[in-house]
Formats: sequence, structure tokens, C-alpha cells
Amino acid sequence: MIQLTTATKIQKAIDKARTVKPRVRINRFGSYIVTNKATGATYTVECLRRDGKRFASCTCQAGERGNACYHIAAAVSAHLQLAFERATLNF
Ligand SMILES: [Zn+2]
Repeated sequence: MIQLTTATKIQKAIDKARTVKPRVRINRFGSYIVTNKATGATYTVECLRRDGKRFASCTCQAGERGNACYHIAAAVSAHLQLAFERATLNF
């Protein structure tokens, strides 16, 4: 589980996600299945909010060690898009 503070903190992971371009499928709001198209490896990323802070976790090795992996970067980007759409459509 990592705390998401600033984008700069996970910038490396964001850069890697842009290169790898993993596939992100929505499991449910806040839960995403991220697949590396090249290797077929699939991981689950959970995004949650607690006490006004944002957290994310990933089932890959790096994620389980508390590192920001590109799966988290890719899922968070999808999550923010979804949250934005929800907020926009919720009028
Ligand atoms: Zn990961």
C-alpha cells in the first residue's frame, strides 16, 4: 500500500506506464485489473481514500513492497478519469 501524495513521487512509474501501455480494465470503481500486454501478467490495483488521503495497492512484487509500480500509475490515471466522469455526470 502506498500513499499517493504528489504526481512527482510516482513520475517514474507514470513514465513507465506510458512506455509499457498496460491494459486497464475496471473491476469496480476503485479496483482495476492491469495487464502487461507483452507478458500477459495481470495484477489487481486497488485505489482507496482514507481520512482524506489517497492510497493505492498492487499485487505485483514491487507493489507489495510498497513501491509505486507502473500498474498503480496506469490504474490511478484510469481511476481519476472515472472519478472525474462520475463527478461530471452526477448533476
Ligand atoms: Zn504493480
